[in-house]
Amino acid sequence: FENSMKLEIISLSQNEAFARTVVAAFASQLDPTLDEISDVKTAVSEAVTNSIIHGYENTQGIITVKADIKDNLLTVEVIDNGKGIEDIEAARQPLYTSKPELERSGMGFTVMETFMDSVDVISELGKGTRVLMTK
Ligand code: ATP
Ligand code: MG
Repeated sequence: FENSMKLEIISLSQNEAFARTVVAAFASQLDPTLDEISDVKTAVSEAVTNSIIHGYENTQGIITVKADIKDNLLTVEVIDNGKGIEDIEAARQPLYTSKPELERSGMGFTVMETFMDSVDVISELGKGTRVLMTK
């Protein structure tokens, strides 16, 4: 069984809930538990929020959200063409944030890692960021 979806949204905070709901609806084909759906929503929410706040720094850009299902495995990708991450390893550390003044806690990547089975981050400065997660 194979299926896939792709969603493009403008980087507005009100689209974060939309994106996570779309992915959850798509993932429901896998007959997930409520906990699993909630985990996926939380992870998508963190990744999309990062693209809005850090990738585009609240300017308007396009965020692409892709998901696919294959052999009972869900893969979700959140892609932006924003500023990129200079040091991915540092960015992934718990409590690391480049925006402490905005009262970010620096836990987004840690949350994604906790709620998904794998999280890969690909990023290039000035080009953008792609977060690939599976569950
Ligand atoms: P929190 O998610 O707890 O509100 P945070 O967003 O700062 O805080 P993380 O989500 O863990 O924490 O991200 C860590 C850091 O990685 C960010 O502070 C930012 O510097 C960088 N980062 C994350 N996602 C992106 C992105 N899409 N584009 C550019 N930088 C990013
Ligand atoms: Mg974050």
